[in-house]
Amino acid sequence: MKGILFVLSGPSGTGKGTVCERLLEKEPLHLSVSATTRDIREGETDGVTYHYVSVPEFEGMIKNGEMLEYASYNGNYYGTPKKSVADLLDTGHDVLLEIEPQGALQVKSIIPEAVLVFLVPPSMQELKNRLITRGRENSDEIKERLAASQWELRQADKYNKQIVNDDLDRCVNEVRAYIAEKRGERNMIEALINEKV
Ligand code: 5GP
Repeated sequence: MKGILFVLSGPSGTGKGTVCERLLEKEPLHLSVSATTRDIREGETDGVTYHYVSVPEFEGMIKNGEMLEYASYNGNYYGTPKKSVADLLDTGHDVLLEIEPQGALQVKSIIPEAVLVFLVPPSMQELKNRLITRGRENSDEIKERLAASQWELRQADKYNKQIVNDDLDRCVNEVRAYIAEKRGERNMIEALINEKV
């Protein structure tokens, strides 16, 4: 594996999607397109936002060992197809996953060298406000997401790095600095290996 696998995770409403967009504008990173069984929403594109599949299709992918990780989140499956990620990493590309914590921790146990970043919301009240104001989910779904966030926040100390998303620019800069640090470490290790050969 030549590229670095970066995982950006945290509770729904923490701003993962926006931070990801900013990172992709500024950094040479390839975003993995996940598969999901949830319904497609307005403004989303099949094959770009997600690969939208049926439950039997998703379960078939699990059975065939096609998933790097997957999770059931609020009644839907979400997962990362293994092959595209492996191909990118093998050809020296750095890959970014934007996934929830159950999946992030699976990635860590399968690929210990993956770099996990946990985005921390400034407060529970702010998390709730963001879920309400973005208006993507109905009130039951918001309640489910907030309930899930309790367990998710307790996983933060299992990550390589925790970054508070209280100010978008500052948060993105902090994630970028951490990515740069990890790339620096990788380059140093490669240089040492090449020196020995
Ligand atoms: P949404 O329905 O808002 O698009 O996504 C719900 C949650 O699923 C978000 O926290 C998102 O990060 C997460 N998610 C998206 N893709 C994946 C994936 O491939 N695997 C896992 N474990 N979570 C994902």
